[in-house]
Amino acid sequence: MKAIAIQRGERQLHVLDVPKPTPDTGEALVRTLRVGIDGTDHEVIGGSHGHYPAATDHQILGHEAVGIVEDANGTELSEGRIVVPTVRRLPPGADTNEYFERGEPDMAPDGTYVERGIAGAHGFMSEYFTSPTEYLIPVPDSFWEYGFLIEPISNSEKAIELAFAARSAFDWQPESAFVLGNGPLGLLTLAMFTQRREPYATFERTYCLGRRDRPDPTIDIIERLDGTYVDSRETPVDEIGDVHEKVDMVYEATGYGKHLFETVAALAPNGVGVLLGIPDDRSFDIDGGRIHRELVLQNKALVGSVNSHVPHFERAKESLATFPDWFLDALVTGVYSPEEARDAFEDDDTAIKTVIEFSAP
Ligand code: NDP
Repeated sequence: MKAIAIQRGERQLHVLDVPKPTPDTGEALVRTLRVGIDGTDHEVIGGSHGHYPAATDHQILGHEAVGIVEDANGTELSEGRIVVPTVRRLPPGADTNEYFERGEPDMAPDGTYVERGIAGAHGFMSEYFTSPTEYLIPVPDSFWEYGFLIEPISNSEKAIELAFAARSAFDWQPESAFVLGNGPLGLLTLAMFTQRREPYATFERTYCLGRRDRPDPTIDIIERLDGTYVDSRETPVDEIGDVHEKVDMVYEATGYGKHLFETVAALAPNGVGVLLGIPDDRSFDIDGGRIHRELVLQNKALVGSVNSHVPHFERAKESLATFPDWFLDALVTGVYSPEEARDAFEDDDTAIKTVIEFSAP
C-alpha cells in the first residue's frame, strides 16, 4: 500500500510502497480517508520535532486522520463506521503506565509514550492503518470530509479546559478572548470562541493576531467570524490594552517565544493565558519583576497545554458540528492525492489547511 514518509538522513517526502498492516487482537483495520497537515508535520520533516520508530529507516507521517473501519477484527466496532484516531500510544513493548491506566495519556511525561506520525510510531498517512479500538473515536458519517480537524480542535478543547480550570475557584465570566496566531490552530479556536457554545458562550468580543498585509485569506476568515484582526507589527501583544482592551483570555498558537511574557500584560485582572505554541530556543531581555508582580497582584494565570485524549475528541466533535460550511470551505485550501503530497506540503500565504485524500467512503 502507499504511504507518505520521510527517510532517515533526508528531509524530503517519499511515497513508499509498504505492507498493508494486519490488526492484532483488540485492534481494527482502518481504511484511511483523509489526513490533514499541520505545522508539527513540517517540524517532523525538518527534524526539529519527534523521532523515528525504533528499528526502521522511515517514518510514516500524519496525525490528523479520519478513516473507515474496514475490518473490525472481532472488536466492538462495526465495519463501515467512520472513526478518528487519537495520537498518543504506549511505547512498543510497554505493558502500561499510570497515565494510560487513568485514561490521561495526554498528561504523560516524555519517555512514557509515543506519538503516531510524530515521535516513535508510524502515522496515519497510508492507505490503511491499524489501532487498538480504545483509541478510535466513532464519528457521524457526515464527518468523513472534515473529521481530520477533530484532532487539532481537541488540542484546543483540552487547553481551554485547563484554562477554565485555573479560574474555577471563583465566579469568572470571560467576555473577551485574544487568539494569538492566524494559522489553522488559531483560526479553528477563533471559530470555537465565536459559535457561542458552552463554555465559550460568554465571549462577546474576540481578537486574532497575525502579521500579514491585506488582502489575506486568514484575515478574511477572522473578520467573517466577527473577530478583530490585530497586526503584531502595529500592535504588539502587550499593547492590545492601549489600542483595544485588556482581555479575559489569551490563547497562544504562534510558537513565538516572546508571546508568553507579552500575554501577561495583555490580560485583564483575573485573566488567564493558555500557551500551545512550540517555539525554538530564543533569548531576549524581559522585565521579570514586572511580569511576576502583575501575575500576583492581578490574580492572573498562565497555563501550558499539549496533546489531548478521548474526552477532548468527544467535545471536538461537538465544536466541529457548529462550524458553518463557509468556514470549513475557506479553511481547507487544498485536497490532494497521495501522489501530490509534495504540493500538499507547500507552505505559502495562500495555503491555510491542506489535506491528503486516500479514499472516499
Ligand atoms: P502555524 O505555524 O501554521 O501557525 C502559526 C501562525 O502564527 C502563523 O499564521 C504565523 O503567521 C503566526 N505568527 C507567528 N509569529 C507571529 C507573530 N510574532 N505575530 C503575529 N503572528 C505570528 O501553526 P499551527 O496553527 O498549526 O499551530 C500553532 C502552534 O501550535 C505551532 O507552534 C504548533 O507547533 C503548535 N501546536 C501545539 C499543539 C499542542 O497541543 N500544544 C498542537 C498543535 C500545534 P505567518 O503565517 O504570517 O508567519
